[in-house]
Amino acid sequence: MAKDRIYLDWNATAPLLEGARQAMISALALTGNPSSVHAEGRAARAVIEAARREVAALVGATAPNVVLTASATEAANLVLSPVFRMGKAPLAIGRLYVSAIEHPAVREGGRFAPGQVGEIPVTPSGLIDLAALEALLAAHDGTAGLPMVAVMAVNNETGIVQPVREAARLVHARGGLILVDGVQAAGRIALDIDDLGADFLILSAHKIGGPKGAGALIARGETLMPSPLVRGGGQEKGHRAGTENVAAIAGFGAAAAWARDGLDERNAAIGALRDRLEAGMRNAAPDLVVHGAGVARVANTSFFTLPGLKAETGQIAFDLEGVALSAGAACSSGKVGASHVLTAMGQDAKTGALRISLGAATTVEEIDRAVEIFTRIAARRKISGAAA
Ligand code: PLP
Repeated sequence: MAKDRIYLDWNATAPLLEGARQAMISALALTGNPSSVHAEGRAARAVIEAARREVAALVGATAPNVVLTASATEAANLVLSPVFRMGKAPLAIGRLYVSAIEHPAVREGGRFAPGQVGEIPVTPSGLIDLAALEALLAAHDGTAGLPMVAVMAVNNETGIVQPVREAARLVHARGGLILVDGVQAAGRIALDIDDLGADFLILSAHKIGGPKGAGALIARGETLMPSPLVRGGGQEKGHRAGTENVAAIAGFGAAAAWARDGLDERNAAIGALRDRLEAGMRNAAPDLVVHGAGVARVANTSFFTLPGLKAETGQIAFDLEGVALSAGAACSSGKVGASHVLTAMGQDAKTGALRISLGAATTVEEIDRAVEIFTRIAARRKISGAAA
């Protein structure tokens, strides 16, 4: 990245950690196919298994319950399946319930038909509506199979920490399964699969300083697994066929080890910068609306609306001044659509919202510069607002 750029879009993707880069470079030197039994194969296998242990440790799971995939999106598509296996016996899932603020990776419903997917609303403060979830589960028609619920631990746009434990209790009281999307929570809050009560978790390497194109599905137990999505060779114990991307997995493992350590210190430093940013922006624009400010948020995220400034316009203005941030979530097409998260919270999504997300390498100088730029943009908006 150019030296004069300020990268404040860590929720879209985090810069590659030096440790992850080194692990990947070493892994690229390995020739063997990890499924081969010779020494070269065993060397590649050892790298994968070491990384698997790190990924498992990040969420308090055991390594054999980690299925490595090419993205969290793939992991979501693997686990969001109407057909599971309990040991050798098939187990049917009748309906999937996803929260209205899920990332599209989950919100699209994986392998469920659109008619088999229900939506869990969120409260105006951006939290999954547990009473609504309870009502949906109570009304679930079990004739076609069990209910499955998918909720995220932390929302990628607002940074709001979701009541996942409580959701898991409600789901289990009705005999259902729960998937927790831990992509934005990993490395930001403690994430323990047993403590959460999640049956399954998904993770993505590139949100924690690993490479793009590596993810994982982590199961709480070994017996209950979705039917495979990618079939072929017996890799990943038959749950995900295809020769493993050894280098990407090595980078994922290194990033997972990093994410696990020093969480509190990192959060204290990042949270202080985020608070400085929001105080600076409020000072420049007292009418600034920070979404989720009244509930628990991860330390690194600020999602805000500046009345009179369209989010797309704001994003371009920041970009021209050297600051990378998002207008809502990064969208694959590069287009900025209305935020489904703001809409779900009952907010006017027309103006939209800007997301600034920080990371461990963010500096106080960068934050002060971002506030300066924000101040200039906010002043211009008042002029154009008055003219409009
Ligand atoms: N879930 C959440 C909450 C995300 O923020 C993202 C990435 O933006 C994903 C899932 C998808 O992850 P991946 O890019 O590995 O497919």
